[in-house]
Amino acid sequence: MNHLTIDINPLQTFLEKHQEAFWLFEELLVDENKKFNLTRITSPQQVRTRHFLDSLAGLGFLDSLSKQLQKPLRILDIGSGAGFPGLVLALVRPEWSVVSLEATEKKVRFQEKVCKALNLNNVQVIHGRAEDLAHQTSFRETFDAVTVRALAQMSVLSELAIAFLQKKGIAIFWKGSDLTKEVQQAETPVKQMGGIIDQIASYTLHPETEASIDFSLVVCRKIHSTPKKYPRVFGIIKKHPLGNTV
Ligand code: SAH
Repeated sequence: MNHLTIDINPLQTFLEKHQEAFWLFEELLVDENKKFNLTRITSPQQVRTRHFLDSLAGLGFLDSLSKQLQKPLRILDIGSGAGFPGLVLALVRPEWSVVSLEATEKKVRFQEKVCKALNLNNVQVIHGRAEDLAHQTSFRETFDAVTVRALAQMSVLSELAIAFLQKKGIAIFWKGSDLTKEVQQAETPVKQMGGIIDQIASYTLHPETEASIDFSLVVCRKIHSTPKKYPRVFGIIKKHPLGNTV
């Protein structure tokens, strides 16, 4: 397993390059949040750092994969909430296609509004659950990359995410900084799903209005096909995460 550090600063240039679109996204988010509780992070500075920049942290891995596969990527963002990281990645890489999967309807409606306002023609927002969609042939093992931020422990995430990947594809999990135990516990589940834990990257965000925060990305790579029985239904995944099953 490879450990590296990501420098977030150069990613600021994307916020400048797409300034108007990000302003609009921010405005829609702050506005909608007054009606529905979409996200805890609502001040404009926080939205820029904690949502937009943070979503871009995985871009380097995705760019490398696109280069390696020599094609634009087909990406799935699972549990995308108000659109993170999926819509942000779609905005800065219009040649890629992004499927943004979210289980809560009001969040799906919000994302549709954002896509329309920002003219994001490369995004398909789907109202559904990962453990169901992963068994449909039009989704299973069809993606180059899967992204997931803030949904569950890695042992749960690996069961939800890896079935969607084609061989050589990568899953990127956005995580906090204290990961050793979680990664250890996920090694068997990732393997059972046909993957390996390939890289861990640390990075630091510097929000203007609060102290710096350390985060990590965990990158898993798909090596073998996923056994047909996975993912199981969500109640079972949560109760008996892979690796702990009897
Ligand atoms: N990724 C976003 C939202 C994180 S909150 C962000 O980082 O800001 C987790 C989201 O995942 C919630 O919106 C929840 O509705 C959704 N979710 C939880 N389980 C899911 C599943 N099995 N399939 C699809 N979406 C799911």
